[in-house]
Amino acid sequence: MSHTVFSENIIFFDAEFTSLHPKNGEILSVAFVKPSGEELYLEITRDRALSDEWVTANILPMLDGNGISPKEACDKIREFIGKGEPYLVSYVSHFDTVFVHKLFGDSERPFSRYPIDFASMLFTAGFNPSNLLENDRLLSEAIGVEPSTHRRMHHALNDAQLLHETYGKLLRYIQK
Ligand SMILES: [Mg+2]
Repeated sequence: MSHTVFSENIIFFDAEFTSLHPKNGEILSVAFVKPSGEELYLEITRDRALSDEWVTANILPMLDGNGISPKEACDKIREFIGKGEPYLVSYVSHFDTVFVHKLFGDSERPFSRYPIDFASMLFTAGFNPSNLLENDRLLSEAIGVEPSTHRRMHHALNDAQLLHETYGKLLRYIQK
């Protein structure tokens, strides 16, 4: 069955945060990848003591430490995205979506308010939605993503690049 996506006005996005708690969590690092491959990676300065134990052990060591303020981050994200209000495509989208909206607060945001959840796309294509994170061989073999080339899972830029690559391959797979 032929299948067409609604829009190509999208941008891939991934973030890491201090906690998964919707009230307490704050973005520590965020990455955006345009369909052209153009990338933005930012880290935001936070009090390290506010991070959950798992985050302290697994996320903080991967940060390069060049943090900027939340306002500077919003300005850079607006500048990078520009005026087109693209749809943000993310994976395990509810967390990333909550925290990116929390980052912008009441200020103007440069992306669509309708999040595109890649896990739902996997689900409707017949794959377990947890496959991307768990490097499932079924998904790798079906659509040709080689997870072993992506060695820094839970690094926002790596995850956004992996999402960019997997999105294109999944579309080609379901359009066959
Ligand atoms: Mg991630």
